[in-house]
Amino acid sequence: MGYVDEVLAKVKEKNASEPEFLQAVEEVLESLRPVIDANEELYRKEAILERITEPDRQIMFRVPWVDDKGQVQVNRGFRVQFNNAIGPYKGGLRLHPSVNLGIIKFLGFEQIFKNSLTSLPIGGGKGGSDFDPKGKSDREIMAFCQSFMTELYKYIGADTDVPAGDIGTGAREIGYMFGQYKRITNLYEGMLTGKGLTYGGSLARTEATGYGLLYLTQELMKCHGQSMEGKTVCVSGAGNVAIYAIQKAQQMGAKPVTCSDSTGWIYDPEGIDVALLKEVKEVKRARLTEYAAARPSAQYHEKKNGEHGVWSIKCDIALPCATQNELNLEDAKMLVANGVMTVCEGANMPTTLDATKYFQENGVWFVGGKAANAGGVATSALEMSQNSERLSWTFEEVDAKLQNIMVNIYHNIDDAAKRYGKEGDYVAGANIAGFEKVVNAMLAQGVC
Ligand code: GLU
Repeated sequence: MGYVDEVLAKVKEKNASEPEFLQAVEEVLESLRPVIDANEELYRKEAILERITEPDRQIMFRVPWVDDKGQVQVNRGFRVQFNNAIGPYKGGLRLHPSVNLGIIKFLGFEQIFKNSLTSLPIGGGKGGSDFDPKGKSDREIMAFCQSFMTELYKYIGADTDVPAGDIGTGAREIGYMFGQYKRITNLYEGMLTGKGLTYGGSLARTEATGYGLLYLTQELMKCHGQSMEGKTVCVSGAGNVAIYAIQKAQQMGAKPVTCSDSTGWIYDPEGIDVALLKEVKEVKRARLTEYAAARPSAQYHEKKNGEHGVWSIKCDIALPCATQNELNLEDAKMLVANGVMTVCEGANMPTTLDATKYFQENGVWFVGGKAANAGGVATSALEMSQNSERLSWTFEEVDAKLQNIMVNIYHNIDDAAKRYGKEGDYVAGANIAGFEKVVNAMLAQGVC
């Protein structure tokens, strides 16, 4: 048995109850085969694959808090510190009822390669809780965040581990967590990113994941002789990534026509009204039914069996920006039949493995989230730099750096794929480029 197969078998045996983690490991190791084969003896001796698939540590803790009725609630908190070969652990905090250790491990594992691709000095980590922020009062959110940080603070710090936002964690939650950390430690430091602008946040961080996704998509289109002008775009999700992806796509002259939330989805053939979407989602924190009620051109559909129908709409560009495994083989077949040119992932692992393969076999330019959504964490790293030098940069400065980073990521993954005879396989390119830097650092640092 080859080294990759041996390690895959061991990882499956040790983590049998974590399907998302196994899916993420399989995707990475399968596409790394040419690199592993070329260095098999060294990597095997140094147990590189065993080490990179085992987190440095995983922390789980109780989060007790009191709801508005005076009832004590208990959630489970997580922080998985996966790999710090190239910098302090870095990655978001997901607050969603689906969160469990396997989900956090899959996200932490992906974060190692994504963060490496940004070319900035950040390692991989992820955390969160099965707490559901939906329908909670501001006071309940604060009570949860303070309790969560009362345990988490022991393990994080500006030079150790720097959490940030993810699904369910936005500026409000980061603010409450920052306040609690400061109160407990008496330190004013950049140990969280995605902070508000009045207390160390970076301009353009809010927009960064969505904008970055479009900067990379635009570069990819340009390199294939295409422009964004006049292209129809299907976007899923209606959170921070989707909103700013829609906004930037419009600024580039494309027409985004869909979005989705936890209960339904919108098809708006005249193009999504971003100002209205922001009002409904960011200000009112309401459902997309409110968008449809205020916009005559929009069609609202309820989700069926928890699934949205965004991928049934004909488009040139598909940008999944909701959550893991929201685009399956059936969806991929519909998109290909409707002539989709490119699929770039704004969310983390939104496309199933068989759907990814189907896109690649049918000539669709497919870029996975590790490369395509790296703009968020890259700008978090820029926030860390600004915090360290106790300065803040203008929106234009940060946005220009973000653009540059995303264009470089596209060329790096394209080059890496070509180097190993896999031209056009941007999934392999991203994994290879991300892996090479981390492994070189691991080898240089000895057995640890
Ligand atoms: N949650 C985002 C991601 O998946 C951002 C993480 C960060 O800024 O640290 O990359």
